[in-house]
Amino acid sequence: MSESTPSTPDVRDVIIIGSGPAGLTAAIYTARASLAPLLIEGEPSSTSDQPGGQLMLTTEVENFPGFRDGIMGPELMAEMRAQAERFGTQVITEKVTDVDVTVRPFKVTVRDQEFFAKSIIVSTGAQSLMLGLPEEQRLIGYGLSTCATCDGFFFRGHEIAVVGGGDSALEEATFLTKFADKVTIVVRRDELRASKIMQDRARANPKIEFLWNSQVTKIHGEEKVSGAEITNTVDGSKSELAITGVFIAIGHKPNTDLFRGKLDMDEATGYLQTVPDSTYTNVPGVFACGDVQDSVYRQAITAAGSGCMAAIDAERWLEDAHDIEANVPNY
Ligand code: NDP
Repeated sequence: MSESTPSTPDVRDVIIIGSGPAGLTAAIYTARASLAPLLIEGEPSSTSDQPGGQLMLTTEVENFPGFRDGIMGPELMAEMRAQAERFGTQVITEKVTDVDVTVRPFKVTVRDQEFFAKSIIVSTGAQSLMLGLPEEQRLIGYGLSTCATCDGFFFRGHEIAVVGGGDSALEEATFLTKFADKVTIVVRRDELRASKIMQDRARANPKIEFLWNSQVTKIHGEEKVSGAEITNTVDGSKSELAITGVFIAIGHKPNTDLFRGKLDMDEATGYLQTVPDSTYTNVPGVFACGDVQDSVYRQAITAAGSGCMAAIDAERWLEDAHDIEANVPNY
């Protein structure tokens, strides 16, 4: 346990940006290490800020260890948050408008208010790209999903659709055939973007059908998905698809706009880069965990695991930083 306390009342040991499983786990660990973390969770009104993260958009979570009968996503996040607060995490519900990692202590701006910290843990997550249909927000978690690993199990015996033509769509569709009777992949062009091996696997699967030059333009259902309207992208003709589930797999976007030009990220995808087997970014004292730096696993439990790693990395880094603290002006 660290004895560390801020050197002045205004400089925190750690600020955590983002309140999904990664950020909240980092908060639990840093709070229990007496680092009195400040967690800034974003605003519910913004599309890129989703306090509590993507689990707030799900219903039943059955794969988070420790909940034998499953738990609702929002309830799981409320429990994690209460646990973080129990150990002294301060939570602010505001949008971070700027982060300056070129100064020490680091500066985090929330509207017109500034916060200072010796270390920052970035856990701003990622968001699934959506089709932009108004009913998507209402039906997500009710037959509409963005994660086959999470929700495939609920579609045993169903006929469902997967939207997209990349590796994600084909991987999800292939996985979903373990449960569903039939999976229709809705592709907006007449060819796939996915790698050949994934294409071969999907084409060889008897449960998979392709709907080419097609776009889902409406998802039916008041309380849960009951069908979809398909529009032909070549001639504009419309048809109906009888399905009870839709998986959107058209890509993800990490929430890293705030860090562009400040932290190393994959230029093409925007995912933050961390030193392998750690949560260190290229800026000493700034750590990244969860989906913002993980384009591969993207699970609540892996995000939570990396949040724990970030907390331990930050705690150890802060202990070492005490030695240099005296030599850094304004630290
Ligand atoms: P991609 O960007 O590769 O593919 C997105 C797909 O969705 C494309 O077919 C695209 O169509 C389609 N699409 C995009 N927007 C829309 C829209 N509004 N309506 C309908 N369709 C749309 O994303 P992925 O998530 O599939 O993959 C991301 C990266 O991760 C890739 O590099 C991929 O190779 C990798 N990956 C690798 C896996 C593996 O190797 N096991 C598994 C999953 C992902 P269009 O082609 O017309 O643009």
